[in-house]
Amino acid sequence: MEPTLNEYEIQPLEDWLKPKCRPLIISGPCSAESREQILATAAQLHKTGLVSAFRSGIWKPRSRPSGFEGHGEIALKWLAEVKEKYGFPLAVEVATPKHVEACLKAGIDILWVGARTSVNPFSIQELADALRGVDVPVMVKNPLNPDLSLWMGVIERFYMNGINKLAAVHRGFNTYEKTRYRNEPLWDIPVKLKSNFPQLPVLCDPSHIAGKRSLLHEVIQQALLLDADGFMIESHHNPLVALTDAAQQVTPGDLEKLVKQLKIPIKSDENPCKEMEILRNRVDELDKMLINTLSQRMNVVDDMAHIKKECEMTVLQIKRWKTIMETRTAYGVEKGLSKEFLESLLDLIHKESIKIQSKIIS
Ligand code: PEP
Ligand code: MN
Repeated sequence: MEPTLNEYEIQPLEDWLKPKCRPLIISGPCSAESREQILATAAQLHKTGLVSAFRSGIWKPRSRPSGFEGHGEIALKWLAEVKEKYGFPLAVEVATPKHVEACLKAGIDILWVGARTSVNPFSIQELADALRGVDVPVMVKNPLNPDLSLWMGVIERFYMNGINKLAAVHRGFNTYEKTRYRNEPLWDIPVKLKSNFPQLPVLCDPSHIAGKRSLLHEVIQQALLLDADGFMIESHHNPLVALTDAAQQVTPGDLEKLVKQLKIPIKSDENPCKEMEILRNRVDELDKMLINTLSQRMNVVDDMAHIKKECEMTVLQIKRWKTIMETRTAYGVEKGLSKEFLESLLDLIHKESIKIQSKIIS
């Protein structure tokens, strides 16, 4: 039988990437543009003493073929110089078995799969097959679309082909509704990934979520509060002239400033204190009360279904439902709860009530 996700034996991140600081940082330019740019950025990153691995795209997936598509294999030589001079492990995006072959030949230490590749199980299977029997760490960016099982599927395909040095990278999602982010963080998706897959390291890529420098700090801070294991952040010695993602890359100096401004929370299990225990017990009791109340409510809904059946009424009573929504939301807001939270909670309760009643009546 296949192991379930929480039985996967994933190697801890620290076993394959020595952290220079907490949180762990992988940094480097979006794209390798020239030997000079790569070496200048690496020199400045090295000076910060914060960076555990140097990243760079050398094959760039661009929407239009007229965009800069990367220098390809020549750039592997520039990266080798970075490793030799500064000792950084190197991370490169791969999208085809040919890329994998070139990277392995060039001594690239970590491969990552981009968001445009993660959406396609055929491409992922080809990459996983190319990596069968190879001991190399693979970082998996979330697919463009907000689909948790697609993301998990990528991790499964690599694991099933023998890759156990794995990490997920949360880089935000394409959504219909646009906000101030370039890619919506939809934080509940990486949180669910973590709970399905507790031993899998999850890094945050604030650059592609934010899309602009001014939002990086808040994205990193939120990821830290949600227990991110580290960051992959884009940097460039002169971001203003970057050929790709110019608005989101930071100078190594600004990266250092950014890190200094962060509040770094302690991981919860490292800090059990008495007060927290008391509060957790209180939450346990309240949750029990909440569930008892919900169970009682659904029993009443059940009784109502029998009356609706006798009186040949419809299950959906829209006027009554609207009144419930309005009165409960107003009451909840008065009690300090948010309208948005109340609406989604009531919506869920209503859906369940309809389901129960429809089953009884039909
Ligand atoms: C990148 O890291 O430069 C990149 C192309 O990212 P993504 O696949 O997340 O868009
Ligand atoms: Mn980029």
